[in-house]
Amino acid sequence: MIYGIFSDIHSNYEALTTVLKDMLQQGVTHPICLGDIVGYNPNPAECLELVRTLKCPTVLGNHDEIVSGKKSAEHFNEMASEAIQYSCDNVSPDGKAYLASLPFHQKIEDFTIVHASMDEPENWNYINSALEASSSFIYQRTPVCFCGHTHVAKIFIKEKKATEQKPDPEMKLKRTNRYLINVGSVGQPRDGDWRASYAVYDSEKKILKIRRLEYPVETTQKKIRDAGLSERLAERLITAC
Ligand code: ZN
Repeated sequence: MIYGIFSDIHSNYEALTTVLKDMLQQGVTHPICLGDIVGYNPNPAECLELVRTLKCPTVLGNHDEIVSGKKSAEHFNEMASEAIQYSCDNVSPDGKAYLASLPFHQKIEDFTIVHASMDEPENWNYINSALEASSSFIYQRTPVCFCGHTHVAKIFIKEKKATEQKPDPEMKLKRTNRYLINVGSVGQPRDGDWRASYAVYDSEKKILKIRRLEYPVETTQKKIRDAGLSERLAERLITAC
């Protein structure tokens, strides 16, 4: 199976369609969504509709949870709150019910998918370091786990202890190790590289590729301004931090 694993779309339609086109070129047969379909950018309803047409395994993200109505946005900063309100106003009741139905994590073949971390997935912990990854590894029952949430593609490897490394464009996973793989963000990368990020995983050959793709970012920025969303959201797409 060739999986295309993508996360943190955040209502960026141009980045999402670019990633889906690349998946076809990469021979992806099974797309998988790690959540945060909505929030921040100007096309929450369109992105949600597109992800739903894929009929692919999808887990809940923290922005999805708020738009679904299951939780309030009280812990969000002003910029995120304003954008989440925009998503709430633009997603249909049917779309909200779909988001509310998503699980926190799911097992697929030899791997698990989760938005943030396997320890307390409902608390949306951020895994930025090998130490933080250690807590998630304790609850990881499969050799490989894919996550998102930080918007930074990174690979954590558990041999005797957990270590981290920046992803190579292509790497072969060892069957003797355990991996926690952050696939980065489709719609709002935060690692200094503005290009959309996602992973291609060949589960038989155990080959992982992190793909980075240019997309028509000026179109998304114009839509952000036209929608009256914060200028900082438009700038952030280019500064990628
Ligand atoms: Zn996110």
